[in-house]
Amino acid sequence: LVATAAQAQRPPMFERGGYDDAAEAAFVDSLLAQMTVEEKLGQLTQYTGQWAVTGPAVTQGGEEDIRAGRVGSFLNVYGAEYTRRAQEVAVEESRLGIPLIFGYDVVHGFRTIFPVPLAETASWNLGAIEHAARVAAREAAAVGLHWTFAPMVDVARDARWGRIVEGAGEDPFLGSRVAEARVVGFQGRSLTGLAADTTVVATAKHLAGYGFAEGGRDYNTADVSERTLRETILPPFRASVDAGVQTLMSAFNEIGGVPATADEDLFTDVLRDDWGFDGFVVADYTAVRELINHGIAANDAEAGVQALRAGVDMSMVDGIYVEDLPALVESGALSMDVVDEAVRRVLRVKRRAGLFEDPYRYGSEALEASVLLAPEHRAAARDLARQSVVLLKNEPGRGGSAALPLQRGLGSVAVIGALAADSISALGSWAGAGRREDATPILPALRDAMPGTDVRYAPGYPAPPRDGFLPIVDALLSDDTAGHAEAVALAGGADAVVLVLGEHRELTGEAASRASVDLPGAQLDLARRVIAAAGDKPVVVVLTNGRPLALGALDAVAPTILEAWHLGTEMGPAVADVLLGDHSPGGKLPVSFPYVTGQEPLYYNRKRTGRPADVPGASEKYVSRYLDVPVEPLYPFGHGLSYTTFETTPPVLSADRLAMGGAVDVTVEVTNTGDRAGAEVVQLYVRDEVASVTRPLRELKGFERVELAPGQTQRVAFTLTPDDLQFWGEGGAWTVEPGWFTVYVGGSSAATESARFELVAE
Ligand code: BGC
Repeated sequence: LVATAAQAQRPPMFERGGYDDAAEAAFVDSLLAQMTVEEKLGQLTQYTGQWAVTGPAVTQGGEEDIRAGRVGSFLNVYGAEYTRRAQEVAVEESRLGIPLIFGYDVVHGFRTIFPVPLAETASWNLGAIEHAARVAAREAAAVGLHWTFAPMVDVARDARWGRIVEGAGEDPFLGSRVAEARVVGFQGRSLTGLAADTTVVATAKHLAGYGFAEGGRDYNTADVSERTLRETILPPFRASVDAGVQTLMSAFNEIGGVPATADEDLFTDVLRDDWGFDGFVVADYTAVRELINHGIAANDAEAGVQALRAGVDMSMVDGIYVEDLPALVESGALSMDVVDEAVRRVLRVKRRAGLFEDPYRYGSEALEASVLLAPEHRAAARDLARQSVVLLKNEPGRGGSAALPLQRGLGSVAVIGALAADSISALGSWAGAGRREDATPILPALRDAMPGTDVRYAPGYPAPPRDGFLPIVDALLSDDTAGHAEAVALAGGADAVVLVLGEHRELTGEAASRASVDLPGAQLDLARRVIAAAGDKPVVVVLTNGRPLALGALDAVAPTILEAWHLGTEMGPAVADVLLGDHSPGGKLPVSFPYVTGQEPLYYNRKRTGRPADVPGASEKYVSRYLDVPVEPLYPFGHGLSYTTFETTPPVLSADRLAMGGAVDVTVEVTNTGDRAGAEVVQLYVRDEVASVTRPLRELKGFERVELAPGQTQRVAFTLTPDDLQFWGEGGAWTVEPGWFTVYVGGSSAATESARFELVAE
């Protein structure tokens, strides 16, 4: 099997599938011609979902608003019964009968929860990631949802930012491929397919720069250069648009003095004019009103005008468009053309989603019963969960051999760590309508999987109280060591130890930034004591968390560390499969792991600087480094081990000269040199040696995940064209420059095997 990067890693271009654009335009325009100003601005208004729960009593987005055409969409309303009730009012009782579109955060599953997005990305398995999004779409559609606020495609290089869990990590190339996979998973591959009851409209969010919040503090200012914006932040958004995404969401943050939600350059010039996007943009939650807090608008009306003019078509929750803008249109202060264009975009997407054909097509009680948590959905979730696990290290311990995989038939195993028994954390951040009772955490799954073994448990560190956000956080970060003695005693008396450390899900996600990404509370101290008490017996540290953790101190004492993230409904069985060797880990890190927090932001594709420490003749003192920790990460981007071993040959190039318009093939052979089956992700990085602007040390340009039986060899070929070598040039456009490029191929971003070619101008 020979795959090329271009064939293997990009979905076929999104197809319009014979979609009739002229009919769409005629339909939309004739509807628009019948609408009052208030009805138009109603289509641009989304309210949150108490409606379905409390009925007409709420003042905004109640039955009266729907009937008057003052609302076009809801978020947080789901369930076949509720969506149908609201839709009936819109379709049967409003003047024009325009259907509502129901949106919800279906991020990594609706009821069947898959691994958190960062973890899914660690599988580097685009087909499986696409399938996970399709399963989520199928379940969402079954409860009457039409639209998900996913995927989050924000590149994030700072582990302190809580929402790093929700994206595809630090790299724009990997992030773009994963964005495409998720968009086509949610929406299908063609515009005509969007009306199927297995698909929902997707949202690429948050445009732009949200992942670059200064200091990793959520919602904070992002101050990035035009180059970083173009080369690092925007590519996954562009890839989403090319994959057919129908909506985007504006970010909360500002960049360089302009809050994203009022950024006309971004939403009109780049997104519409340059990229040809013709769907609609929704503001993030109350982000239009937040323009007042940002200090660029004095009141709601000013905020609304700025956002709508910038190209943000729908306001979320604050109701500003329908409340405050009609008067401005009447007075001529806001042009009707701006409003009309936004309405066209919204109506277009509603029509593409099939809502005018059959507003009740999505969602029924029968579908809910048969689709939610269907056995094949759980099986897919378990499969992807296993593939998302990353084996960070597995060195011989004091007993002389590596701890993983665990031996079967042990007399006893000590499972230590409250997170091992915590089903809510297994689900992870943004867990849709996932329920804790459906999730299996590690402890019960291991008990099931080891019937003859006495699996004993001690929490070791405090489990949080059930309620109250700040009390939960206080408990999770507390230095309480009261549980250590019991855990140490348990470790001393067992044949093997599984020590589960990491983050409760409340320490990850939105509004969950951390200034330190150390193991929380007294977990490190617990680890030292437990590992010492275990003596010669195998100890496996299983990490469950939603961000890169600073592991330098743990790494110094723990020979075996398995990164298991928050893996969803099937977390426990998946981890048991890996611990017991039924599945050999094949995941690779989509983010760099630091020794200490102070290394953040940390990413492999950094610039060289004028004073690198690792060049011949470098000064002993005046080099770019830290005195106390390495510059390099503890575990680099792309790293991950297996229970088997792989050997990859040095790359062979089809030519050492590449002409403009030509292509060069990069070929390696990878062999499974161990004695069990496993997966390796072969990664291709390119370094631009000399250019007119500074270029990263290396950049990912291709990858291929291969599954190999013991002894099996596979050839992997990537194709590079001049397009792959572009950067944002000084003149403000994508540029390709002749010169030398070095290609690195291997099993992580630290790959050393290389070859060179020259890009020539003729
Ligand atoms: C988040 C969005 C999300 C929205 C609706 C906001 O707080 O930033 O990503 O889609 O809420 O739930």
